[in-house]
Amino acid sequence: MSSYPQPTESRAQELIENYNTILKKVEALNPKTRLVAVSKFKPSSDIMALYSIGVRHFGENYVQELIAKSEELPKDICWHFIGGLQSGKTKDLSNKVSNLYAVETVDSLKKCRQLNNARERKNGEVINVFLQINTSGEEQKSGFLDENDIDKCIEYLKSDECKKLNLIGLMTIGSFAESTSEHEENQDFKKLTDMKKNLDDKFNLDLQLSMGMSNDYEQAIKQGSTNVRVGSSIFGARPTKN
Ligand SMILES: *Cc1c(COP(=O)(O)O)cnc(C)c1O
Repeated sequence: MSSYPQPTESRAQELIENYNTILKKVEALNPKTRLVAVSKFKPSSDIMALYSIGVRHFGENYVQELIAKSEELPKDICWHFIGGLQSGKTKDLSNKVSNLYAVETVDSLKKCRQLNNARERKNGEVINVFLQINTSGEEQKSGFLDENDIDKCIEYLKSDECKKLNLIGLMTIGSFAESTSEHEENQDFKKLTDMKKNLDDKFNLDLQLSMGMSNDYEQAIKQGSTNVRVGSSIFGARPTKN
């Protein structure tokens, strides 16, 4: 352990306290929910602070940053890639992060093929996959919009052709408007839950749901989320990009 980057004692205390506060709220709503600590832009020493109390699931948004951290940090960390997935980066993601647990932002059949084929050539471990759904329909958001495309992608993931990817769920980033509205239910989360039910029936699956971030993870769990991605409430505000 001592060869890994270590936080100061006060930073470690702060992070552990923040994490445990969130974890308590998560478990009170549904003890089966997975809390993924989103560590983008945060130093490896921050990750080690939570690692020291047994946290293993971390989320990262940028392929280069994830590769660097995965090389530096313990290999039993389960990395979740949650950033915008670019075709040009799928190969590096597949090849260079041996302990990649899940890619949560798969949004096309083409990227599925790229991830699978890169893993197959190196005979790497299976990667879990969430299909990202653009539930709000906002232009700037990634994710599937067309149900036909989703079906085709699932058919590929279930086929013998695809040996290195394991479909485990659906993911969405709800709109800001929904996460701050006074509605009883978040309509984006509802859309994802409804879609899960339909796809479970149609393809005989039991899909997980990845929805909810710092602002709305409690609401997301109330609406059925099984995987919440929380960053700033644990690690503090991030520097803005650039
Ligand atoms: C950054 C990010 C998060 C974490 O966001 P916070 O609001 O800091 O909790 C969750 N999901 C995705 C896809 C992200 O990009």
